[in-house]
Amino acid sequence: MKCINCGAECELTKSLLKWRCPFCDSLYDAEGEDAEKIREKYQEFDPEMFVVERDFSEFMDKKVTATNIKSLKRCLNELGSVEEILSYIRRTHSNCEDIAMDDIREDMINACHERLASILEPSEKLLMYIDRGIFFKNKEYYLITDKRSIFVYKKKNPFVYHKDISSLKLESFMDTPSWEINQSYETAVGNVAITGDLSGAIVALIILLGFRNDPNKDRIRLI
Ligand SMILES: [Zn+2]
Repeated sequence: MKCINCGAECELTKSLLKWRCPFCDSLYDAEGEDAEKIREKYQEFDPEMFVVERDFSEFMDKKVTATNIKSLKRCLNELGSVEEILSYIRRTHSNCEDIAMDDIREDMINACHERLASILEPSEKLLMYIDRGIFFKNKEYYLITDKRSIFVYKKKNPFVYHKDISSLKLESFMDTPSWEINQSYETAVGNVAITGDLSGAIVALIILLGFRNDPNKDRIRLI
């Protein structure tokens, strides 16, 4: 389609199902067939962001793991931005007791600010708190800031800067999906809630933070 503002030929954007004018940055909604086309094209992992080294179809008969993968793709391809994913999580998972973020159990976030004052950089913003589930409540959890994921265990707090994520490895023991960052089980985004949908969204979030913090970041290997 042609830009209504300046007449230039618009390009389809992958993230928000919109047409974007490369000259004046005007945005127009993509509808009908166009939207369908984008969905089809991006139902797979974006080759500009990932090197896919694994056949993920092997997980499709595992219910929770398949939901996790679908949610990850949908959040990347259809929501496509950090803000959209945060607001999606806020909309759909505000009743999940394992997470905290702005407007959802904010006291947990504030408590972490105090507890981790020595770890957090002064300008670092805490976006999400995620509990590791019922047996570890308030003891083992991880935090997503605008800069990194911090994994809090009893005695140590390994972390990975989002821009330094070089690989994501999917493990699925007993259909409990877990994405290991840079091949370490200590820095793994495990399943949250039961369905797999939320943890897929969380993985999408940290990926987009990585590419936002370093637009020239190397592609992430999916292994
Ligand atoms: Zn234009």
